[in-house]
Amino acid sequence: MDAIALDSRLSKPTATFLSHHRKLLVDGEWVAAASGKTFSVYNPATGTVLAQVAEADKEDVDRAVRAARRAFDEGPWRKMTGSERGRLMWKLADLVEQHLEEFAEIESVDNGKPLAVARVADVPLTVDMFRYMGGWATKVTGSTIPWSVPNEFFSYTVREPVGVVGQIIPWNFPLLIAAWKLAPALAAGCTIVLKVAEQTPLSALRLGELIQEAGFPNGVVNILAGYGETAGAALAAHDDVDKVAFTGSTEVGKLIVKAAAGNLKKVSLELGGKSPTIVFGDADIEAAIPGAASAIFFNHGQCCCAGSRLYAHKRVFEQVVEGVSAEARKMKVGPGLDPSTDMGPLVSEEQFQRVTSYIESGIKEGAKVVTGGKKASGNGGYFVEPTVLTDTKPSMKVVREEIFGPVVCAEPFDDADLERIAKRANDTIYGLAASIWTKDISKAHKLANLLRSGTVWINCHNVFDASLPFGGYKQSGWGREMGSEALANYTEIKAVTTKL
Ligand code: ADP
Repeated sequence: MDAIALDSRLSKPTATFLSHHRKLLVDGEWVAAASGKTFSVYNPATGTVLAQVAEADKEDVDRAVRAARRAFDEGPWRKMTGSERGRLMWKLADLVEQHLEEFAEIESVDNGKPLAVARVADVPLTVDMFRYMGGWATKVTGSTIPWSVPNEFFSYTVREPVGVVGQIIPWNFPLLIAAWKLAPALAAGCTIVLKVAEQTPLSALRLGELIQEAGFPNGVVNILAGYGETAGAALAAHDDVDKVAFTGSTEVGKLIVKAAAGNLKKVSLELGGKSPTIVFGDADIEAAIPGAASAIFFNHGQCCCAGSRLYAHKRVFEQVVEGVSAEARKMKVGPGLDPSTDMGPLVSEEQFQRVTSYIESGIKEGAKVVTGGKKASGNGGYFVEPTVLTDTKPSMKVVREEIFGPVVCAEPFDDADLERIAKRANDTIYGLAASIWTKDISKAHKLANLLRSGTVWINCHNVFDASLPFGGYKQSGWGREMGSEALANYTEIKAVTTKL
């Protein structure tokens, strides 16, 4: 087992948290894995070991599902009112807020993102998510349904929790996506087994401590760290799980669907994307250039809604490409804990290899590198330069496939026909997000109407609110995260009819 190497800039609470072996949260207790196995978690800025974490496997999944089942069927949770559940969720939100700095540090060293970004985005959005969904806990209502035959029957619907939920999450926003998953399920009254990503398990395990501190009954939230092919697959296939909610790659999303078929558990999926950023000739270029740059470079391009295909009107194409490239060159790539860092390392060695091999494949197929394209230097970490490619073609792998890194393919368009522009933007298996940059707001809404994607941003990109549904058309997923729509992922509808 490699020794844990901690950065001296970390605060005492974070250093203490990381220096103890982290365990699994099952039925209100922190337990070792049944196998006794642990795995190392790495700091992507240095490639050194950051923490040791218990490695859940099928047996731990069984234990956690049994605890969640008991908590759902017998525990006090089922009998709690919505307002009691909401109060617990607000308490949790307050606790996360009180520990904002600690969470931001954990996220920065575990995932690689700049500390400043975790402080203003990941952690506050997590707090908002628990508060927002806490409000919904008292508003999970049905409706009365008028019959076509009058005065014979009286019917109403109720929305009930779907039951035991398995949730599997990725590494790009480890804490925030944990909140996207946990908050609506808790508001609906479900019990949960959350399987966090093996690359970034730490913030959710810290969240588990606060869940205990807030006073959620034992077994309501169980948190497992472990690998996808073992713990994740066992959870997705488990016969006593009523629903599986997954965020991750489209490839694994398809495996989840297959695994879920055994007991026909309900499935919701938030998957990959290849989102277009469309800049018209009449756009406010001063806003569009940093906007298009941040669309792809925010979180190092490790966003499912990253604006990875940049289409700019021929009239402004050179200016936009030059401007986005200048933004890229300005970005300081370095460790997340360094206050001057704009872009941290990619999350892992594997992700580093994946992104750099996409860049190589683009070059081999004829793309031109305007800026970036190489490993950025830095102390053993997984740093890649923010990269702008031009001369790409719709058939190229870099244009078709999700890279999940700071690499944008820029292509010009010379057209005023919105149908044709939309056809090009929609020419992907994905349909998660798109952004439109123009001063002509009618044109923007007409184009928004033609885009096959779950989110359309006008003169902005990568903006989120707990109240806004987020999810994909086509192979970007099933169902929606956030907003009142997320509750539908975690409720069953029952129709009750009385003969009058
Ligand atoms: P990424 O490509 O972003 O790493 P993945 O889709 O591979 O995303 O992983 C997202 C989550 O899915 C992680 O928690 C991972 O452990 C889990 N996972 C990976 N493979 C499987 C699988 N076969 N079954 C269930 N979960 C899986």
